[in-house]
Amino acid sequence: MSNTIRLSGFSLALQDIGEADQYIVLYTRESGLVRALGKSIRKITSKLRGQVRPVQLTNIELLIGRRHTILIGAAAEEHYPILNHSIETLQATADVGALLQNMLVEHETLEGLWELLDHMFTALNDPANGIRVSLIESYFYLRFLAMAGLSPNVSSTCVFCGQEIRDDAFFIFREGGFAHPHCAQEHRTPSGRKRSADAAPITKREWYLLQRIEQAEWPGILSADLHHIDPIRDFLKQFAAYYAMR
Ligand SMILES: [Zn+2]
Repeated sequence: MSNTIRLSGFSLALQDIGEADQYIVLYTRESGLVRALGKSIRKITSKLRGQVRPVQLTNIELLIGRRHTILIGAAAEEHYPILNHSIETLQATADVGALLQNMLVEHETLEGLWELLDHMFTALNDPANGIRVSLIESYFYLRFLAMAGLSPNVSSTCVFCGQEIRDDAFFIFREGGFAHPHCAQEHRTPSGRKRSADAAPITKREWYLLQRIEQAEWPGILSADLHHIDPIRDFLKQFAAYYAMR
């Protein structure tokens, strides 16, 4: 027995399989993360060829089979042309695709994630936001982590000694919060692993930026006067990757 369904989804990753097939990973409004097999989709005669591209909003029709979910129909609903022509935004969206594949199981939905992706892709597609890519990514990662129940604790209380931190600090991944450098040193994992695997240094200024982004609302964040966000974005990606790998 098999049946067909129609869904609306953001295409996040395309993986070529064999000579002419392709796996398409989508985050759909109705059914969360979906991996669909596009049979012979790369053949020049395929009617689906070119209908699914990286990062576009697509209406898809799927045949739910016993072994595979097969793409049988696709029509682009919204293109994001700017987003597909910048190396920086392409990288940002590829990273999001990889993150969702690592963090979500098939058909898993997270409340609010659809809207968050919509906001992110729409903002990245606006040329005026070309200078705000790191800020948009940082906002995305913070909100995504919150939806997944993994919000970093950005308060200034040390996770080990409970005292206030007034200067540069370490973020302890397994604790999800900050620690004094000397407390972080004392609580190092004794397994011989490098500290870089379970903690990341963060300066006072970066910490302040992180708190500002955490308190910001969409779309007000886009007009916030926040600069040099790259270290925050990298830190949040590292934190998300730490959980994705567990
Ligand atoms: Zn401490």
